[in-house]
Amino acid sequence: MRFSSNIAQLRPSATIAVSTLAKRLKAEGRDIIDLSAGEPDFDTPDWIAEAGVQAIRDGHTRYTPAAGIPELRRAIAAYHSAEAGRSLDAEGVVVGAGAKQPLFNACFTLFGPGDEVLVAEPYWTSYPEMVTLARATPVPVRGSEARDLKLTPEDLERVRTPATRGLLFSSPSNPSGAVYTLDELAAVADWARAHDVVLLADEIYQRIYFGDADRAPGLLALDAGTLGPHVIFNGASKAVAMTGWRIGYSLSDVDVARQITAFQSHTTSNAASPSQYAALAAYSDPPRMNAAVADMGVAFRRRRDLVVARMAERLPAIPYVRPEGAFYLYFRVDGVFGDRFTSASDVCTAVLEEVGVALVPGEAFGDPTYARMSYATSDAVLEEAIDRMARVLGPALAAVR
Ligand code: PMP
Ligand code: GLU
Repeated sequence: MRFSSNIAQLRPSATIAVSTLAKRLKAEGRDIIDLSAGEPDFDTPDWIAEAGVQAIRDGHTRYTPAAGIPELRRAIAAYHSAEAGRSLDAEGVVVGAGAKQPLFNACFTLFGPGDEVLVAEPYWTSYPEMVTLARATPVPVRGSEARDLKLTPEDLERVRTPATRGLLFSSPSNPSGAVYTLDELAAVADWARAHDVVLLADEIYQRIYFGDADRAPGLLALDAGTLGPHVIFNGASKAVAMTGWRIGYSLSDVDVARQITAFQSHTTSNAASPSQYAALAAYSDPPRMNAAVADMGVAFRRRRDLVVARMAERLPAIPYVRPEGAFYLYFRVDGVFGDRFTSASDVCTAVLEEVGVALVPGEAFGDPTYARMSYATSDAVLEEAIDRMARVLGPALAAVR
């Protein structure tokens, strides 16, 4: 078959590829600890799942409006209005199949040939692919290690050209776990507004945050005057452990939401109807939703503390970004580069083959000197995984010294 130039550069999702491989090895009977998959290990809270079941029984099994059922769009707008300190228009909310679809919707709707879209590196593996599928050009831009790889206006100014149209980034970051402070966000937003660059802020991990507040700072918390054109992405997948239900959304000005809706109406129509009703149960009952989020948050924070403590004990020579949110540890592996290993892929392959721990090599996020571990799993499994990794990385570090 001759394939179209649309997909000439397309590669399958590396994060999904590693977790598929880990699942296969497990099914073959290998003793695998899978730290590749980026999804909460918790079940969807019962009362949310029940609302989905009830929706099926009640006959909510037909198409919905493309942008989502009005009740859910209103509930999402109200949920974010508190954070924004102003009442958000439900017409700016477009519900899609997970956050992935809204991200693609926005890239496809806003960018095209000749446009450059800055992509904060390390980036979630799908960002450059989405920009490329829109036939725009992704331009990776990296912050300094001293700032946990977060971007400043100076970093952005270095790569800006007259063709720069957008900036796509996540905070809390996948894969680094770094979180922009409100001041850091304000600086980036000021720069974007000054240069008419559309900010695409992926805040899907906003509720998995280890700071003092109940959520990470997001664009909506900025003064409305600071914020130029922007689209925010969020959803139920990570916050309330609903990855398989496929509910995410974009928040934007109404004119952008209309175009996104028109695009979605020709591609997938609407997110699954029962899933929308399940999400409605969550978003229309913020106290109950917050309690569920907080319970999971306690576990994620404990695991973050455990992982960094165990790394300090077993692999003290390995530098990493200290995670302030999400559930990933992004650590450097170039300390073991030498005759045996020359890339993160080499290192991750050896760790998988020799001690059965699945990690995602940094190549997936634009940097072959790092690897990503997901710590969305039990304490005992995490301890065992780091001990196993040390059996490969410890001697490798000693060998290159
Ligand atoms: N953005 C980031 C940064 C993610 O890690 C993920 C999870 N794969 C998504 C978006 C997509 O989330 P969803 O499962 O809701 O499509
Ligand atoms: N968010 C996850 C990850 O980054 C899920 C896999 C995916 O959709 O890429 O690993």
